[in-house]
Amino acid sequence: MAARTIPVDSFDLVIFGGTGDLARRKILPGLCRRCLAGQMPEGARIIGAARSEMDDDAYRKMIAEAIEEFDPKVSKDTACMDRFMCSLHYVEIDATGDGGWPDLKELLRKDVIRAFYFSVGPSLFDDLAERLHKHGITQPDDRVVVEKPFGRDLASARELNQDLAKHFDESQIYRIDHYLGKETVQNLMAVRFGNVLFEPLWNSHYVDHIQITVAETVGVGGRGGYYDKSGAMRDMVQNHLMQLLCLIAMEPPNNFDADAVRDEKLKVIRALRPVDYHHLVRGQYEADEDGPSYREDVENPRSHTESFIALRTHIDNWRWAGVPFYMRTGKRLKGRTSTIDVVFKDLGHSIFPGDESRHRNILSIRLQPNEGIDLQVTIKEPGPGGMRLIDVPLDMTFADAVDAEEVDLPDAYERLIMDVIRGNQTLFMRGDEVEAAWAWTDPIIEGWQARGDVPKLYEPGSTGPEDSQMLMHRDGRRWRDIKV
Ligand code: NAD
Repeated sequence: MAARTIPVDSFDLVIFGGTGDLARRKILPGLCRRCLAGQMPEGARIIGAARSEMDDDAYRKMIAEAIEEFDPKVSKDTACMDRFMCSLHYVEIDATGDGGWPDLKELLRKDVIRAFYFSVGPSLFDDLAERLHKHGITQPDDRVVVEKPFGRDLASARELNQDLAKHFDESQIYRIDHYLGKETVQNLMAVRFGNVLFEPLWNSHYVDHIQITVAETVGVGGRGGYYDKSGAMRDMVQNHLMQLLCLIAMEPPNNFDADAVRDEKLKVIRALRPVDYHHLVRGQYEADEDGPSYREDVENPRSHTESFIALRTHIDNWRWAGVPFYMRTGKRLKGRTSTIDVVFKDLGHSIFPGDESRHRNILSIRLQPNEGIDLQVTIKEPGPGGMRLIDVPLDMTFADAVDAEEVDLPDAYERLIMDVIRGNQTLFMRGDEVEAAWAWTDPIIEGWQARGDVPKLYEPGSTGPEDSQMLMHRDGRRWRDIKV
């Protein structure tokens, strides 16, 4: 049956796992901010569903406390808080049993936009989809939102896709990668496809290489058990870094429709070259006075899981022939940053006598902190003394260009949830994209497992293992600094 077009004048959003960490820390404070910004339609309802026994009042109290803890600013607006609290409801449900489902069915309205957010572990996706169907709850235009991790390899991702496909059409499924909800990610597309300046240079004739760095200063913290079974490759590269790489490298879609954009991203993933193990460095952080080592954090003295990874890959197509793409991500590094650097080629010939330094234009796209874009350009150093050249950033930080305080930029979760309500899938991963990403990732992991690769140790507060510097130096290149 074809999906109906329902105006966004009201919605019912069910959050399975509505008492969990993600719901309390991100989803509900984010929705409350949208309420404050006047973007929650009158009559919109949010229904928490989880195993704990509680009523609406107890749930409202729990969420009010969570908002106070995770967004004290918004919690101070009592009028907004009151309105938001009234929109909250709770249903006690067990994803693996049949209790609570008739209550949910009765509570839900049939003539509004309805979305089911699976904010639970992926092992429950099949149970939830199955029971929503079995209890006659779902309608053809309902939406379902699923969280990462979406599988741990190609086989498990396929299975999850098949489980969801039994009850939902692909057009109803929203796979979240919160990196795609960041303002800068959308701005990256605006800069690339909304300006005449960059597109002619966006290819192997002018680009020397591209670096993507996602660095964290924190260790694995309380997620040790989960993380040790996953590692940086599965937890970060297969999804977040891969998505960034796609947006940087994709061909211009013919319009901004969800499938037009996702078709182009998929072509990039399919063109990724397998990674040669000479171009791969894995690491684990050591202990220092500020914290335990990785192995102590995960309580596994023999762990071979990586908390750091750096690699070089290529996109085997005409546009990017010969251009290396370097990606690195790690925990307990010297700074916290998510940055993409497009490093342009050297000038073929310098006309300035005595200037032997290597000047390069670099377009840096920062996702955090201080979301923004800057372009490194070469200028004359002001003052007397002849033509001395220096490199300076042309700063395009949005907060300065537009009054960010006034604009009230939504965070990634707020934006993505509102996109679900609007029915816009552009910033969500399609099933075939996720599978293609795993198809590239699996042989890399299998390769290091077969070789018995042991991660190199690195000092906390550094830029990772020394070998990751060598990965670049061997190619006559350098990583951009990670700012403290
Ligand atoms: P959590 O353990 O804090 O919460 C899990 C929620 O699921 C609870 O509300 C619990 O009551 C509910 N639940 C568990 N079993 C259930 C069952 N049988 N029936 C009904 N409800 C059940 O987990 P979380 O941190 O909120 O994470 C949820 C999902 O989101 C996980 O898949 C996680 O990997 C993913 N995720 C979490 C974060 C984060 O920051 N916490 C970030 C990205 C992705």
